Amino acid sequence: MAKATVLVVEDEKDIIDVVDFNLQQAGYRVLKATDGAEGLRLAKDQSPDMVVLDLMLPAMDGKEVCRRLKQGEATRDIPVLMLTALASETDRIIGFEIGADDYLTKPFSPRELVLRVQAILRRSQEPTGDEAPLNLTGLTIDPSRHVALAGEQELDLTATEFKLLHYLAAHAGKVQTREVLLSRVWGYAYEGYARTVDTHVRRLRKKLGPLAERIETVRGIGYRFREEQ
Ligand code: CA
Repeated sequence: MAKATVLVVEDEKDIIDVVDFNLQQAGYRVLKATDGAEGLRLAKDQSPDMVVLDLMLPAMDGKEVCRRLKQGEATRDIPVLMLTALASETDRIIGFEIGADDYLTKPFSPRELVLRVQAILRRSQEPTGDEAPLNLTGLTIDPSRHVALAGEQELDLTATEFKLLHYLAAHAGKVQTREVLLSRVWGYAYEGYARTVDTHVRRLRKKLGPLAERIETVRGIGYRFREEQ
């Protein structure tokens, strides 16, 4: 099997070296860019399997790079792991709203970075070919084509949002805790990252429009997809 390629966009040389070394050790091919413009160019030309993107970059910051990646036809489906020194909830939400798939706060351990990269790649490369489409009143989810329809309208979902919606809908009527969703959808279960689920649910509801209320919040526990409206 070919090595997966990870593009790292980071201006701090020490961090680039650590990330490069550890990802190579884990068996990945690493592309490096030290500013946003170069990162965008490499993403377009080399089609990496994912991008590790620093938030604080000179000239064009990580948010803008992420926004442009998600707007580009050739780059919109490449998962993005954001690196940042800012740990506040606001910054997390901003990261997810512009389409980042995951978030890692500096300082991070190389091991945690590698685990996150592995989880993201596993999630985006998972074969979904033999799964039958789900039909729930007003909502159709076809995992083999990676298409979700609200009525006749195709929803524009990121890979993570699609997987989250599919998991909730496939278990309609059953309450899912944030911890279960983290481990089934994101592929890891770290304490303190339950908020990741909340921000993705919020974004997913926004995209679901009139169907938003099908995802119910179960106070103190998690979320449940309502079977019928
Ligand atoms: Ca930086």
